[in-house]
Amino acid sequence: MTFFCPLCWKEIKEIDLICPFCGADILEYVNKDFEEKLVNALRHPERETVRRAIHILGKLKSTKAVRPIIKLFKQTDNTFLKMEILNTLNEVGIPETKEFMLKVIDSDVGLIKRMAKSIISKGFTEYHEK
Ligand SMILES: [Zn+2]
Repeated sequence: MTFFCPLCWKEIKEIDLICPFCGADILEYVNKDFEEKLVNALRHPERETVRRAIHILGKLKSTKAVRPIIKLFKQTDNTFLKMEILNTLNEVGIPETKEFMLKVIDSDVGLIKRMAKSIISKGFTEYHEK
């Protein structure tokens, strides 16, 4: 199997962690791909895959995922998916996610409303489900 540098596209060895041609950190690019794949998985037809992707993106504190995840929140009617999303947005914890959480308080769904309120009252990041 042939390997190529993700930056300069020259042929490298499988064991190379740094590209000998351009100095690119190969692992850094692999991780970026992983995040990208998770973001793409948000559109997966299987709900469990979507839920897992949301969960992992929270653990990664992926800021890249914030917009697609908020979009998904608005599209889905599934309360448990919405709860997983709130958890992840809380874990990412950037101003955009906090702003969104404040809007969610107006939700018609009692469970979602309470969860958002709880996250905010506990100072966002200190909130933990389960
Ligand atoms: Zn290279």
